[in-house]
Amino acid sequence: MKNPVKVTITGAAGHIGYALAFRIASGAMFGVNQPVILRLLEIPQALPSLLGVGMELEDCALPLLYDIVLSDDPAIGFRETDFAILIGAKPRSKGMERNDLLLENAKIFAAQGKSINQHASADVRVLVVGNPANTNALIAMSNAPDLQPQQFSAMSRLDHNRTLGQLANKTNSKVADIRRAIIWGNHSVTQYPDISQCTINGQPAFELVSRDWAIDHMIPRIQRRGAEIIEARGLSSAASAADAVVNHVHDWVLGTPTDDWISMSVPSDGSYGISEGIVFSLPVTCREGRYEIVQGLEIDAFSRTRLNITEQELLSERAVIRDLLNQG
Ligand code: NDP
Repeated sequence: MKNPVKVTITGAAGHIGYALAFRIASGAMFGVNQPVILRLLEIPQALPSLLGVGMELEDCALPLLYDIVLSDDPAIGFRETDFAILIGAKPRSKGMERNDLLLENAKIFAAQGKSINQHASADVRVLVVGNPANTNALIAMSNAPDLQPQQFSAMSRLDHNRTLGQLANKTNSKVADIRRAIIWGNHSVTQYPDISQCTINGQPAFELVSRDWAIDHMIPRIQRRGAEIIEARGLSSAASAADAVVNHVHDWVLGTPTDDWISMSVPSDGSYGISEGIVFSLPVTCREGRYEIVQGLEIDAFSRTRLNITEQELLSERAVIRDLLNQG
């Protein structure tokens, strides 16, 4: 057996954390030959619940799970960790304005960036799930000056998977036959799910579905899918979000298929004319634990308009929290 990888989950007693921890420990993220150590971090009020998660993990007697650390201390939770999955975030409370939510979470993610910088493995990979995820990732990254920006990402994989699901459903095909979906921009209602590059069994998607269907039905449905699930379940999506975390880290570490790419929110490097200094969802391929932004895709006038809208939203989010950037 290999040396165990250490994975930290923040907000580990929450809905997504609860759905995620068991899947990591059973081998879904790194494969069935890779042991793991789970370092589960919570706020003090949630420690009793976290103890219960720890007991259940122990009761599963999972052969790949070498150790479980439960803590409310980031210095312990992030110690020498290889993967930091940042889920815990302050939810919007009644009467809270969007800017208040951004600022409240900015403080949390600035502190976590500093702690990761100080305590995690030098090669740590960070995935931010807690919303507003893209801007939270930017804050964490800018508060971790000893780490490379490419070690930080935010999750757009659930939106990517939702796009595959919608397209498979509409065309009566299998998700495994669909390639090259893209989520551009922010994990918010301004995101741009783009199927202009998609193929289904090698056939361009737009030979099987109309552009009007994509614009009038698919795009708005994916943009608002979170709300649709809350309406149906009375709770926000948790299992599908945890599954997307598994996919995101799995592909980042173990690589993407040769004829496909995935969507990851990563620090913009100016590709496709997007401003640098924001964390933007882009198509990427992964090899040997590194991602590369897919280059050279054609951006038509419709796509450019959509890219601009979501870019502007991220720039305005950054303006709200700018005082918390680069504090490392
Ligand atoms: P969830 O586990 O359901 O959600 C956690 C975060 O993930 C939220 O920011 C949520 O955003 C986001 N999220 C939810 N669904 C999706 C999705 N489909 N795609 C992407 N992101 C998504 O929340 P819980 O309240 O159950 O758990 C949160 C835990 O975090 C609690 O146990 C709490 O104790 C802890 N916490 C930790 C903090 C810290 O580390 N300092 C601060 C606050 C809480 P959205 O709100 O938009 O749904």
